[in-house]
Amino acid sequence: MIFAIFGPPGSGKGTQASRLAQHAGFVHVSTGEILRDAVKKRTPLGIRAEKFVHSGGLVPDELIIEMVEEKFNHLNSEKGVILDGFPRTVPQAKALDQLLDKMKKKLMGILIDLPEKDCVARLSERKTCPKCGLTYNPVTYPPKKENFCDKCGIQLILREDDRPETVKQRLKVYYQLTEPLINYYEQTHRLLRVDGSLSPELVFKNLINLVKYKV
Ligand code: AMP
Repeated sequence: MIFAIFGPPGSGKGTQASRLAQHAGFVHVSTGEILRDAVKKRTPLGIRAEKFVHSGGLVPDELIIEMVEEKFNHLNSEKGVILDGFPRTVPQAKALDQLLDKMKKKLMGILIDLPEKDCVARLSERKTCPKCGLTYNPVTYPPKKENFCDKCGIQLILREDDRPETVKQRLKVYYQLTEPLINYYEQTHRLLRVDGSLSPELVFKNLINLVKYKV
C-alpha cells in the first residue's frame, strides 16, 4: 500500500510521516526534502526548483512528476511507501494514479487537517535541523536541548520558506491547489482524515490506528 500524506503547511505532516514510516517499516519519500537537498547541492533539478521553493510556490507539475517517477524506479515499494508532500495538485494525483496502476499498487490519501490560524501560529515558531530536516516546536514538540537537534546535535534554524511572508504564500497555494485533493480522494473512497490540532502523540496514535487496517 502507498500512503500519501497531505495537509496545510504547519499541520505536522513531515514529522508524522517520518515517525509513521519508521514505526511501520515503510519507505519515507518527502518531495520537499528531496528538493531542499537538490537546491543545497546545486544539482540541475535544484537550480530549476530553487525559485519556487524559496518563494513558497509550487515546483511545476512536470518537473515534480518526473522526479517522483524516477524515485519510484529506484525504491523498494514492497514494504509500503509514505509519500510526504506529493501529490500536491490534482494533475499530480492523476499522474500518480497512472503510475501506480502500472505498478499494480493501491493508494490511500491521508489528510492531516488544521485550521489556518493554527498553521500560521505553528510555523512562525517552528525551527528546523539544517542537516536532517527534523522540525521542532517550542510548545508542542521541543528539542531536548533548547535550539539544538536531538538527532544531529547541531543548531536549529528558521527554514527559508517558514519566514512570515513566505508562509502566507504557501497557505494561499495550499487552499488553491492542494485542498482540491480532498474531493479527489473522497470521491474514490480513498481518504483518511486525522485531526492535526491534537498533540503530536495523539495524532501519531490515531495515524497508526488508521493505517493498520489498510495494509
Ligand atoms: P514541504 O517540505 O513538503 O513543505 O515542501 C517544501 C516546498 O517544496 C514546497 O513549498 C514547494 O515549493 C516544494 N514542493 C514539495 N513538494 C512539492 C510538490 N509535490 N509539488 C510542487 N512543489 C513541491
